Amino acid sequence: MQIPAAQLTAFITEIFVTAGARQEVASEVATHLVEANLKGHDSHGVGMTPAYIRNIKADLLKPHAEASVHKDNGAVMVIDGNFGFGQVVGRQACDRLIERTQDTGVVVAGIRNCHHLGRIGTYAEHIAAQGLISLHMVNVVGHNPVVAPFGGRERRFTTNPFTCAIPRKNAPPVVLDMATSAVAMGKVRVAYEAGRQAPEGALIDHEGLPTTDPAVLFTKPVGALGPFGNHKGYGLAVMCELLGGALAGEWTAQPEHERGHNIINHMFMMVLDPASFGGLDAFRHEVDEMIKYIQSSEPAKGVDRVRVPGEPERESKVSRLDAGIPIADGSWQELVTAAEAAGMASARIAQMTA
Ligand code: NAD
Repeated sequence: MQIPAAQLTAFITEIFVTAGARQEVASEVATHLVEANLKGHDSHGVGMTPAYIRNIKADLLKPHAEASVHKDNGAVMVIDGNFGFGQVVGRQACDRLIERTQDTGVVVAGIRNCHHLGRIGTYAEHIAAQGLISLHMVNVVGHNPVVAPFGGRERRFTTNPFTCAIPRKNAPPVVLDMATSAVAMGKVRVAYEAGRQAPEGALIDHEGLPTTDPAVLFTKPVGALGPFGNHKGYGLAVMCELLGGALAGEWTAQPEHERGHNIINHMFMMVLDPASFGGLDAFRHEVDEMIKYIQSSEPAKGVDRVRVPGEPERESKVSRLDAGIPIADGSWQELVTAAEAAGMASARIAQMTA
């Protein structure tokens, strides 16, 4: 089914309000999740709602928590998310860094103990809208690892995203926003449930050999997701784990820490004001000319044109705002079940989903 973004946002907002979140908090979380769907990242969209409701009920996600400053040395900050909605405490942390960058030109920060931050590109876009550059390296803890290291066969970390955005004056920002695993876990689950094969190069079996059988993630003997780009993606995932986890969060995926059904993100971040480097005009000129140069490349056979990072998401948003957001029947049913679990009356669910 295709659901209009506005209807989906209203439904998800009401689910979180019913679960005890304040209206503005619920609305911010729902807007973030629907935006992820609009931008084509269904793995980080409204499909996360059942897990969030489960974690509110289990007191793992604190719907009223706010970000607080744990340490402040001027250009170095540590901000604690206090296990609040990542979408709220993550954005609050970004706002503090944006403000501080006005004074210091550069801020390096650890943002720790956030319940799932969702689509990291959202924060990069928020910061880029202020004319600032940001870089984000994130780890994921609180549950069992899913990604094997390059050359290994056992799971050691999760999909550790890396994100960087460069603002432009008269054009949308360049936004690289990616998992360091070969594909998102959610995409393998969709293939498994549909009886399809996973993409080549994304999975290994229990012996560490390449496979396209998605069952290796869900049945025994277990295999693992692999990193993107072999040793290079693996190396980047390690850096996300060490900078995001060990430095920013003091909590990595190593087995001293508790693992259950929690989804905690720690995020190492840098925010840079391009004006505090060389000349702002020269920077903007070089970015624009380089992007023009990149996009002037003759497209490969079968490709319509060369895109820069961030463009596929913007294209998806235009088309999904028009056509609605595709939601599989099973996922829709899970949202209805989450609404019931939150305490929403059946008549109200029927009204909101009609
Ligand atoms: P992806 O592979 O779809 O895209 C990765 C990047 O490549 C994007 O910046 C995109 O704009 C760019 N891109 C894609 N096709 C392109 C093309 N043809 N030309 C130029 N650029 C192109 O994304 P992904 O790796 O599946 O990540 C999905 C989302 O999952 C991200 O938003 C990420 O933040 C999120 N994520 C979050 C967590 C978490 O714990 N919070 C963990 C992992 C991933």
